[in-house]
Amino acid sequence: MPKEQPAVTAPDARGRFGEFGGRYVPETLMHAIEELEQAYEEARQDPSFQSEFQYLLHYFAGRPTPLYHARRLSEHLGGAQIYLKREDLLHTGAHKINNCLGQGLLAVRMGKTRLIAETGAGQHGVATATVAALLGLQCRVYMGDEDMARQSPNVFRMRLLGTEVVGVSSGAKTLKDAINEGMRDWVTNVENTHYLMGSVLGPHPYPMMVREFQRVIGQEARRQILEATGKLPDCLFACVGGGSNSIGLFYDFIPDQEVKMVGVEAGGRSLHLGDHAARFAGGSPGVLHGTYTYILQTADGLISNTHSVSAGLDYPAVGPEHAALYRQGRVEYTYANDEEALEAAQILARMEGIIPALESSHALAEVIKRAPQAGRKKVFIVNLSGRGDKDLGIFQSAGIL
Ligand SMILES: *Cc1c(COP(=O)(O)O)cnc(C)c1O
Repeated sequence: MPKEQPAVTAPDARGRFGEFGGRYVPETLMHAIEELEQAYEEARQDPSFQSEFQYLLHYFAGRPTPLYHARRLSEHLGGAQIYLKREDLLHTGAHKINNCLGQGLLAVRMGKTRLIAETGAGQHGVATATVAALLGLQCRVYMGDEDMARQSPNVFRMRLLGTEVVGVSSGAKTLKDAINEGMRDWVTNVENTHYLMGSVLGPHPYPMMVREFQRVIGQEARRQILEATGKLPDCLFACVGGGSNSIGLFYDFIPDQEVKMVGVEAGGRSLHLGDHAARFAGGSPGVLHGTYTYILQTADGLISNTHSVSAGLDYPAVGPEHAALYRQGRVEYTYANDEEALEAAQILARMEGIIPALESSHALAEVIKRAPQAGRKKVFIVNLSGRGDKDLGIFQSAGIL
């Protein structure tokens, strides 16, 4: 019998998932992190915090999202029945709003008046700017210059929402560099400012806290698939940038050994260091942005540049809980390359009338590879983490439009 409510597994007292995770931060940030940890522990047990969070997820963000049986796609591939978890239908167009609402409410509870965030694709920045407006908080978002150029509509959205967008011109001008700037701001303004981390990354308690805010994806999917098919799914698929939409879908299925799980990273142009963001295929353990996990680094331990056609997957580290799940063998990690993701997006658009984000298209690419080999009674769930409107410029420059 499937268990209805698997217990919450917390990382240990030092914020470790097995050997991964922890808290590698300068002394100047220790107080802020401890304050956050305590506030979160209290909030999590406070029914009024939980009910406010649930209220906003429902009335503001639009949860629950449907679990949609992609009949034409399943038929076209001739194998497994494919179900899409439609996070793309949420307000702001991706799963990121779940976490931003949770952390925004927490910031208010802590008496903070200002949010800062980093953003790659711009999706997290837009979700943060949205929540800042909703809750009446000031907001500044750091974004690499390269990402600002390739995601300009999201820059305009943030500005329209009243957020200050600050370009970062150091390093490779992408997400990693924006996080460095954000951390610097936090050290300076910690009194009134909450750092709203966009994924299951960073020092404890962020990886656990962000997972808890995203768990709703898997809780709903579990209920919905049991209702639709009367059984648990055979396999779950999700793309893995920092790892929040994937852990959000996977977490409540972890105790169900019969449910396989596949995380799909960005294979980029090739598996040469610098050309991809496949941390498990091409990385090794190390510390980045406050946590010990799998990272892409040179033989000398310098953080490597990364590449992906999707800005949201373009980051050299993966959440520490994923590193632990990889070590345990509970989740299988693979990658899809740029071309496969672009192709998968077109297939979904034409088969189902849904234009997926290029991030989500990495997960779809893996489903497209595997579904034909699976029997027609097999059930796959793929997390459609976001919608593709933001990526039209990329489709265009790839020569597809
Ligand atoms: C940001 C983003 C991702 C990657 O982030 P995770 O934390 O790995 O979920 C995936 N899909 C979309 C649509 C995104 O915006």
